[in-house]
Amino acid sequence: MTTLTNSFHGTSARTRLTRDDLDRIRNTHPAEWTEQERLTVKRLQNKLCGCGGCTCGDMFGARELTREQEHAAADFEDACNRGAYNW
Ligand SMILES: [Zn+2]
Repeated sequence: MTTLTNSFHGTSARTRLTRDDLDRIRNTHPAEWTEQERLTVKRLQNKLCGCGGCTCGDMFGARELTREQEHAAADFEDACNRGAYNW
C-alpha cells in the first residue's frame, strides 16, 4: 500500500501498488501499460489533481514537495489553481 500526495492541491490517494510497482509503471511507455495499470494511473491522477492540463504533478498526479519547496516552486508554476494558495 502506497500513499501518494500532492502538496499543490493538498490531496492524497492510496494504491495497493508499492513504490517499486509505481516506478516500474513510470518507466514503462504508456502504450505498454496493462488496462489495469492505465486505470490505476487515471484514478490516481483524478484523485490527486483532477485538473485537465494541470502541470503540477508527475504522471500519477503526485507532487511530494515540502512547504518550503512549494513556496520556491510557486513562482514558476502554471498550474490550474495557483490562486488557491492560502499561506
Ligand atoms: Zn494540479
